[in-house]
This record gives sequence, C-alpha cells and structure tokens, in this order.
Amino acid sequence: MAKLDYLAKLVEDLKKDGVYRELPINYGPCTNVIELNHKLVVNLSSNNYLGLANNDRVKNASIEAIKKYGVGAGSVRTIVGNQDLLIELENLLAKFKKEEAVTCFQSGLNCNIGVIQAITQKGDLIVSDSLNHASIIDGTKLSKADKAVFAHSNMEDLEKVLKEKRSLYVNVLIITDGVFSMDGDLANLPGIVKLAKQFDCLTYVDDAHGSGVLGESGRGTVDHFGLHGEIDFIVGTLSKAIGVIGGYVASKKIVKEWLLHRARPLLFSTALPPSAIGATIESVKMLMESDEYTLRLWKNAKHFKKGLKDLGFDIGHSETPITPVMIGDEAKTMLFSKELLKNGVFVSGIVFPTVPKGTGRLRAMISAAHTIEDLDFAINVFKKVGKELGIIK
Ligand SMILES: *Cc1c(COP(=O)(O)O)cnc(C)c1O
Repeated sequence: MAKLDYLAKLVEDLKKDGVYRELPINYGPCTNVIELNHKLVVNLSSNNYLGLANNDRVKNASIEAIKKYGVGAGSVRTIVGNQDLLIELENLLAKFKKEEAVTCFQSGLNCNIGVIQAITQKGDLIVSDSLNHASIIDGTKLSKADKAVFAHSNMEDLEKVLKEKRSLYVNVLIITDGVFSMDGDLANLPGIVKLAKQFDCLTYVDDAHGSGVLGESGRGTVDHFGLHGEIDFIVGTLSKAIGVIGGYVASKKIVKEWLLHRARPLLFSTALPPSAIGATIESVKMLMESDEYTLRLWKNAKHFKKGLKDLGFDIGHSETPITPVMIGDEAKTMLFSKELLKNGVFVSGIVFPTVPKGTGRLRAMISAAHTIEDLDFAINVFKKVGKELGIIK
C-alpha cells in the first residue's frame, strides 16, 4: 500500500458516485460570452454581476496602482503591509456603506473566518441560519463560542432559540446571509433586527450577493431594508459584483480597532495586492457616480426571468438576479446543464449535497455585461433543450 492510496480510494468513490468532475477551462476574461474549453458560450454562471471584472476603467486603475505600488503588499497588514491605498479603499467603502469604519480582508471567506472568531469568546453563543454560507460555518467552527442553528429565515424558530438560550450567555450573535445564493431569497432582516433588540443580541449580515446588487447603487440588503445603524457587522465581498477580489466588514470604529489586533487573516496572511485595491477603488467610485450598472443588471434579470417563466419553467421565488431553474431529479439536472452547454449556454447544475436531495436545479446568474441578444439566445436554448428533455411542454 502506498501512503496516498487512501486518497486514491476516496477519488475512486467520487467516480463511482458519479460526482467526480473535470473543471472546465476558461481561455479568456470572465464576461458575457466566454471561451470555455475552446468553445464560445453565453456565460450564465459567474458572480460578475455588474460586468466590472473586465471593465476598461477598472483595468486601467489596476495598472496605475501596479506602476506606483508594485505587485505585492510585501507583508501582513500589521507589519508593513498597511499601504495608504488600502486605507483609501476602506474610507471609500465606509462612505459607500454609510457606516463608521470598514476593515478589508483578502477575500470574503477570509473575512468571515477572521471576524467571527475575533468578535466572539467562550461564554458567548452564535445563532446561525441553517442555509448560511460555508465560510460562516467555518468561521463559526473556529470560534470558542457555543453554536445554535435556526431554521432558514424562520423567525419563530429564531425566537424559540433565543427564548431558550439567551439568558445562559454573555453575548449572543445572530448571523445570516443577506441574500441566499442557492435560491436568491433575502434574509428577513427587519425580523432579525426586531428579535435582536428584544433579546439584546448582536447582529451579523454576510451580504456577499447583495453588495453591488441591492439597495441604492448596490449598497446592499441593509440599505434595501432601510436598516442603516441597526446591524453590528456587515460583511461584503469585493469578488462578486465589485469584480475584483477581497472582503470587508463595515461596522463601528471600535470593531476595526479590535480586528486590527485580533483578526488572524490580518496578522498572519499578506495584505491585498495593490492591483486589486486600485481596481476596487475604481469599481466602487463607478457605483457611487451612477446607478447605470445596477439598473442594467436588474433590467437584464427581469428580461431573462420573464422569458423563462413565459416558457413554463419553475424559477423558484428568487428576489434577486440569481435565477434558479428547478428540475428536481439530480441526474436530469446534470443532463440539462450538459445539453445547454452543447447548445452554447453555460449554466451550472446544483445538486445534493449543495442543496437538499430532490431539489436539483440550474442556477443562472444574470449580469449587466449581458446584452439582450445574449439573453434571448439563452432563452431559446432553454426552450429547445427543455422541450427535448420534457421539462416544459
Ligand atoms: C461568495 C461568498 C463568500 C466568499 O466570498 P469570496 O470573496 O469569494 O471569498 C462569502 N459569503 C457568501 C455569502 C458568499 O456568497
């Protein structure tokens, strides 16, 4: 037996279960049409909501930042990686989010992993929505606090948990995604804020899919619900609608002071590179100057959703440009995705264990980068393949 045979066996099991996959290769930028495995396809599977990942203004800002600051921060934030460009970005984001302070991390995942651990201690309780993102789950695992889960977006269940447990803990932190990425539904933030007040809890929203999408010029779900000042920790990502890479938490100043001393990704991992910071500053400025991008995103999303709905597809109950196309059966879901790709449209199939068994779906992500022609082409391919597979009449 070779030492790594145990991994070979695990990979073999993946193949037996039919869930082993080869990753497709994208031979160019992430935009409306991509060259995937050397075939041009309409891309309905990226989080590049506003098309900024390949925007000329953003790319030029990135190049200028490299010319002035080089390609790497050269150090963790807490030694000499604290470049003035990063402070400029944090101040700009704080203004954009209408919060006192912003602390940037190397990614959204890093941010959750660093922040949740730093702001909770032994004797505290974290109460988490059952459908929260993997990075919240990982961040929670690293915390010394106790953990509880409430049924997805179910305020009665959250209240039950708080009634039972609040008095047993020092601090209680309620954590939720702002937008749930598998169904595109929004958290019940007004309900959560109300319960948090009633039971004296802290609140934490991970708005990765809401930033750049919801609220005025993409200020996020907190802005969408008019809840500025009511959420203690607002996490966003710079990797999705903003088009670059990085994560951040918007909060009171005191939170930032603490994080700069205790959030482990800031202490033990090199700071964001200047290319990413320069690009992000430009993206955020573009959002603050005009709502052109968010308006185009929503116009495209409405057009696409109407097209599929009119054809008779079940597109779930999404409240965002995330468009699930419910299929049910796992094998049929994967077959649908494969046939769409053959016909020039890439939409990823999502099946168990990412979503519950029997709720397989395709997940189409609409972007401001799409033209109406791209979307109409995709709708027609959905129609053709949907009929062939008997999903629509
Ligand atoms: C995508 C996502 C993240 C991770 O963000 P990255 O910047 O890609 O690391 C975190 N939380 C949620 C809810 C997400 O959807």
